[in-house]
Order: sequence, then structure tokens, then C-alpha cells
Amino acid sequence: MRPFIYTRANSPSFAVQTFPSGSAGPDVESPGQYLAGGTNLIDLMKIDVLRPQHVIDINALASSPLGIISTNAQELRLGALVHMADAADHPEINRAVPVIAQSLRLAASQQLRNMASLGGNVLQRTRCPYYRDVSYSQCNKRRPGSGCAALDGFNRMHAVLGTSDQCIATYPGDFAQALIALDAQVELQGANGTRAISVGALHRRPGDRPDLETTLAPGEMITAFVIKPAPWMRRSLYLKIRDRGSYEFALASAAVAMDLEDGRVREARIALGGVATVPWRAQAAEALLRDQLFSEANAQAAADAAFAGARTREHNAFKVELGKRTLKRALTEVAAMEA
Ligand SMILES: Cc1cc2nc3c(=O)[nH]c(=O)nc-3n(C[C@H](O)[C@H](O)[C@H](O)COP(=O)(O)OP(=O)(O)OC[C@H]3O[C@@H](n4cnc5c(N)ncnc54)[C@H](O)[C@@H]3O)c2cc1C
Ligand code: SF4
Repeated sequence: MRPFIYTRANSPSFAVQTFPSGSAGPDVESPGQYLAGGTNLIDLMKIDVLRPQHVIDINALASSPLGIISTNAQELRLGALVHMADAADHPEINRAVPVIAQSLRLAASQQLRNMASLGGNVLQRTRCPYYRDVSYSQCNKRRPGSGCAALDGFNRMHAVLGTSDQCIATYPGDFAQALIALDAQVELQGANGTRAISVGALHRRPGDRPDLETTLAPGEMITAFVIKPAPWMRRSLYLKIRDRGSYEFALASAAVAMDLEDGRVREARIALGGVATVPWRAQAAEALLRDQLFSEANAQAAADAAFAGARTREHNAFKVELGKRTLKRALTEVAAMEA
């Protein structure tokens, strides 16, 4: 690990003011990184993928609103420093928004969930093995302009949606899909003040700049995720398919939420994981279900629509059929739920 400056922030404003100028958000070349649980950051620093000169520890802010879950009739508010385990086990979240609790409970291991934060989870880096192994010189995400070893390498875990000729890395997390399915907002604090954006606008597709992973401004910190009540929140679930039953990233996953009345879909919300370069909202699939009687045929049509634009490589073509089956099963299960 390389030497770095360590600063412990005692307020959000101190944290954002301390962030080194010239940094490009949390991206790979950024000279600054916030430290939350450290389960992704420290890992990547140890293997020399992230090389910050300045690490700003924000854990002391857990005693501020950043560390709090609050629920009321107007909103569910999740502070960025809330531990994954605490949100996964929260009784009201399990009752009112099961997709959130399930997406967190099915992620990582209990030990990691005890340590890791919600903000860090959403900003975790890809598990592409070529990104994580600096002995490979070709990785546009880690070394812009160097090429992509995965295109013709072993790409079984890689994405089929949202890819570019520069990068096919899969977004690895689970929680962001649940947030996107619920139209959640993410609140941000930067040196110039605060703002809120949709979680769906947080991650960037790789395009020709795979190294730029988010739309965060330099030094911007996530402070909270906010979900407004909606009629589809209660009838929601997260289905995750992986190589083994626990402690594994998704091969394909679906966060689904549905407002259903007398068998007719008033609204459907779908976000896919394990198959795309970013947490993937499947709006074409949602549109096919809306205002229709729910049926197996409609669920299949929605699943087909969700993967209509898929681009496969040598080892990952199976993800198209797996992703469709995952989504169809998730929709069928959510339609059968008691609301
Ligand atoms: C073996 C293993 C298996 C895993 N399996 C899964 C899985 O199945 N599903 C899943 O979703 N995850 C999985 N993970 C990833 C794990 O959930 C993440 O490492 C964790 O959520 C990151 O949170 P953290 O608080 O530790 O973040 P950190 O490591 O502290 O930070 C990660 C990044 O986010 C930035 N950051 C953190 N907080 C903020 C903030 N508030 N504002 C701005 N930037 C911030 C940091 O600067 C850094 O760039 C796994 C991890 C491991 C090691
Ligand atoms: S898929 Fe993306 S992260 Fe993986 S080697 Fe290619 S450029 Fe790097």
C-alpha cells in the first residue's frame, strides 16, 4: 500500500472542504477518497488499484443524520453511513419496503454488512478481474486509453446491457437496484452546497470514458437516500441468482415493485443487477406491464423487452436467458404477494 494522508472529519462541511481540489469524484485517478466502512476502498488500495493521496475518514459523522434511519408518513430516509446490516434488519423497512431489506440482506456476508455503509455500497467498484489485477495492462477503467482485456478474455461475469466497446464491466451491487426501482433520491453535499438527484442519474454508463463511473462532482459526498411513499412499495421484492447460495455477487438479479388491483397492473417498477454496467432500470419492460392484466405471457414479454438490447460476448451469452428467467420469476412472485 502506498503512503497517504489520513484525516478524520468531524463534520460534513469539514469533510467536503478537506477533499483535495482537482479530484474527480471517487474515480480511479482521484487524489481524494472518503473512507466509510473501508471494505471496498481499503481492499482496492491494498492491491494498488485506487491510489488516493488523501483519505478522509467520515465515520465520526455517524452520530449526525448521516448515521440515522428515519421513517415517517412523508419519507423513508437512510443516512449514507447507516450500516447495511442495520437497514436490512430494520422492522419498518422489512414491513413497508421489502425490496430494500432483501437487496441488502442478500449482499456480501454478515461481517461485511456489519461494517459496510449504504453510501459506500452504492459507490463500490466493479469486480472485473482485469480491473482488480494490476498485472493486466489493458483496462480502460483503471488506465484510461489502455484497452479492455475482458472483451476477448474470460468474460462470464461481464455485462450484456449498457456496454461499450471500451468496457463491459458489470456493476456489482444489489442495493442501488432497489433504490432505482423505488425512484429514490440521493442527497449530496459538496464544497458549493447541497443538491439531490435521482439515484438513477448517479451512475454513468461506460461509453468512451469507463473511468468516470458517476455523475458526482469532485469531492461531493453522499449524505442520504430518500424514498417517498408510493403504492407499489409494499408489494416489492429482490430476487438474486448467483453461483452459490450466499456470499456471492449476482449473475442476474431483479428488484421489482408492483401496484396491482384486481389482477391489473397499475404500475410496475423494475431494475436489473448482475447483467448491466450500471444499476439498470428496465422501462420498456415496465411499459409493457402497465395497465394490463398480469399474466405469465405478459411477464415473459416484459422479460424479453428488458433484454432486447443485450450484447453478448464469448462467455456471457447465458446471462440473457438467465436474466429473463430471473425477471419473469420475480414478477410472478411479486404479483402473488399480499400487499
Ligand atoms: C467478498 C465480498 C463480497 C461482496 N459481496 C457483495 C454483494 O453480494 N453485493 C453487494 O452489493 N456488495 C457486495 N460486496 C461489496 C460491499 O457491499 C462493499 O464493499 C461495501 O458496501 C462498501 O461500503 P463501505 O462503507 O465499506 O465503503 P468504502 O470501502 O468505505 O467506500 C467505497 C467507495 O465509496 C466512497 N464513499 C463511501 N462513502 C461515501 C459517501 N458517503 N460519499 C461519497 N463517497 C463515499 C469511498 O470513497 C470509496 O470510493 C462484497 C464485498 C466483498 C469484499
Ligand atoms: S471490462 Fe472494464 S473494468 Fe474490465 S478490463 Fe475492460 S475496461 Fe477494465
